[in-house]
Amino acid sequence: MVTSYPPCRGHGPTSMNALEIITKKRDGIVLSKDEIEFFIQGLMSGDIPDYQAAAWLMAVYLQGMNTEETSHLTYAMARSGHMLDVGSIAPLAVDKHSTGGVGDKTTLVVAPLAVSAGLSVAKISGRGLGFTGGTLDKLESFAGFTTDLSASRFLDNLSKHRIVVAGQTPDLVPADGKLYALRDVTATVGSYPLIASSIMSKKLAVGANAIVFDVKVGRGAFMKSEQQGRELAIIMIDLAASLGKRATAVLSDMNQPLGLAVGNALEVREAMDTLRGGGPSDFTSHCLTIGVQMLLLTGQAENERQARSRLEELLASGQALDRFRDLITAQGGDPLPIDDPGLLPQAPVTRRMTSLQGGYISQLDAMVVGLTALDLGAGRKKKGEPVDHAVGVVLHKKIGDRVKRGEELCTIHARTDSAARKAETSLLEAYALQEHAVDPPPLVYQVVS
Ligand code: URA
Repeated sequence: MVTSYPPCRGHGPTSMNALEIITKKRDGIVLSKDEIEFFIQGLMSGDIPDYQAAAWLMAVYLQGMNTEETSHLTYAMARSGHMLDVGSIAPLAVDKHSTGGVGDKTTLVVAPLAVSAGLSVAKISGRGLGFTGGTLDKLESFAGFTTDLSASRFLDNLSKHRIVVAGQTPDLVPADGKLYALRDVTATVGSYPLIASSIMSKKLAVGANAIVFDVKVGRGAFMKSEQQGRELAIIMIDLAASLGKRATAVLSDMNQPLGLAVGNALEVREAMDTLRGGGPSDFTSHCLTIGVQMLLLTGQAENERQARSRLEELLASGQALDRFRDLITAQGGDPLPIDDPGLLPQAPVTRRMTSLQGGYISQLDAMVVGLTALDLGAGRKKKGEPVDHAVGVVLHKKIGDRVKRGEELCTIHARTDSAARKAETSLLEAYALQEHAVDPPPLVYQVVS
């Protein structure tokens, strides 16, 4: 039976107040389950205004949360909306979630790929966060595509197509929607408990019981070092286990952007090329790595080699692209750009940036590229701002590549000439070249399970 548990809303015990809870957290005192629930319920009822929520987020960012607090926060957020039990309509429901990166369009490929392998993907995704891009913003490059699904439409699409990628709504994890938007503009994104609870509350709300976490590590990630990435991976795997879910985490590189395209419609185009078997090799390989872990976690392949060759066949046969088409049409998007990518939003100005010297690329700072794309309009600087789907950057060279003086490094897609020139100035900071050959960074550092 499909069950949808109604949201838990109320005003909490009157003896508590938001100021006290903020003060406690600011002073490093552990919050109780009741206090955390009170805070999340107050946020949802409107009793706690955004400015107090922002102060509380900063206190959590600075003081952290222990495992119990993180688990209470996760539950309170999940219970702010409906909790869907998708077990009977999607027994093989699987999910993947990235901690946030630049050029990270993995869901656009891996979700349909997993569905073509017989799994179901029921996913609540996010929008751009800080300098990182968001899957929902990318998907909205298709005119008419909606990520705002009611609980019943979510379940209906899942049972018909086995693929749903939706956003937080008043029905589904609304507390994450609110906190996510506030974190994005208050410099409180990169906190283990806030990232872990944000991700896990969405997993808890839609009930997939096998999850692959893609934990990004490096200059363009919230976790800058492998050690930090591993810590977050362990927190999320433990949290998943305590919630009765199987999980694996892939620690993957985010020192340079993933693939070549950074920016919403540009990334959609690259994802579709990948679904046709013609994507950049690093991005294709990363998608296969995540897909392999999904198949292994759900017992759909005996080993890595078998899983990989199955997924390669599904890409080559066009079946994964067909499932992508299902996703776009089922959520109201115009599917025409799938066959004619020229119909996706396109920026009026393109500017090629060339290298001022020859050598080997030793650095291509993903954070600088992400911030440049954000400045061009691909992300938001204020809560609720619209994004420009057309703009961004397409890289032509990456770490380890050799370039000659005057050779193209990347193409900037901008709204205006002046925006393109400004982007060029900032992108110059992203690149470093050296005389001797350089090895590209590994794509994957470790798989933690
Ligand atoms: N993805 C999320 O859903 N939440 C975060 O905090 C980071 C990445």
